[in-house]
Amino acid sequence: MADMLRRHSFSIAFLVVLCIAYKLLLPAPVEIHELGGATMGTTYSIKVVDMPGDLSPEQFAQRINELLTHLDKEQMSTYAADSELSRFNRAESGSPVPLSAELADVFALALDVSELTDGAFDVTVGQLVNRWGFGPQRRNPILPSDAEIAQLMTNVGYRHLELDKSAATLTKTTNVYVDLSGIAKGYAVDKVAEYFDSLGIVSYFIEVGGELRIKGYKPGKQSWVPAIETPVDSAPQVYEIFYANGESIAVAGSGDYRNYFEEDGIHYSHEIDPHTGKPVTHNLAGVYVIDASAARADALATAFMVLGAEEGFELAQRLDLAVYFITKTTQGEGFEDRYTRKFENYLQVE
Ligand code: ADP
Ligand code: MG
Repeated sequence: MADMLRRHSFSIAFLVVLCIAYKLLLPAPVEIHELGGATMGTTYSIKVVDMPGDLSPEQFAQRINELLTHLDKEQMSTYAADSELSRFNRAESGSPVPLSAELADVFALALDVSELTDGAFDVTVGQLVNRWGFGPQRRNPILPSDAEIAQLMTNVGYRHLELDKSAATLTKTTNVYVDLSGIAKGYAVDKVAEYFDSLGIVSYFIEVGGELRIKGYKPGKQSWVPAIETPVDSAPQVYEIFYANGESIAVAGSGDYRNYFEEDGIHYSHEIDPHTGKPVTHNLAGVYVIDASAARADALATAFMVLGAEEGFELAQRLDLAVYFITKTTQGEGFEDRYTRKFENYLQVE
């Protein structure tokens, strides 16, 4: 498993949730059922207050595991050669490829976020991700030259993907290679939430690789309390906590401090700017997005990492999104934060 985690480009969870033990204060403690495992090159963790009556804990865990395995290995992984995405990546350009309902959904969302962010989020960055060493293969120690990047860029650009929603087909107009790592974990969280909603579960916490969905309250009407982590690559430290206050929300974060490499003192992030073909270099260390959809929040967080604190903040305010930015200060080791109007709602307990 350690090997598997290392080989995958998904970074390990960097949202931690504080399960503050209010148990002592509760008159009749209600148990929180917890489970977890590995998926998408990272881990998942789930907490449910009201277990479905007709499933044993083992059956419940198995259903969730099957759902996640299907989304990962059979559908969205570039690490599995026979996933639906890998088959699409091998398909000839010019001919429409039929999509599963899930991939059709993910591509529709991904292309929407590309439009909203002027291509800062772009799933066609796959060849660049691979060349910079953040894909399935081992990193090539020779950094790409500008000429090589320019060559790879001819196959980058979300406008090279044509999605036909009614026919549920996708056509590439050039030889693009798609990487869904910036949205797949969020989408998986949404699918688990959808499954829980269908079972009538009203209070849950779902996390896949740091992207999460929260609904309802913990026992004793305690708000779930997600935490924003300090953007450092050591053990997780809480930077700020916020409150869902019973609202059903998704939270996703992106950072350049867990998945990167260094060469000649230069930090190379796994977030690639689709306009330059290079890893981003600005001073934004981490960004968190709250939204109704975890897939959208995941993609938007990646986009804001690419845009940087200035441009990102302006866009987030303009779109009225709840976004929290943490930047490195120019002097020393410290951090500065800035959040949008909409994020303020989540910084207090109701
Ligand atoms: P994390 O895995 O830390 O949650 P993200 O959700 O930001 O990070 O996803 C980053 C991954 O998405 C990268 O490892 C890469 O595979 C892919 N990626 C990198 N740059 C972009 C981009 N501009 N648009 C879409 N996906 C990207
Ligand atoms: Mg993302």
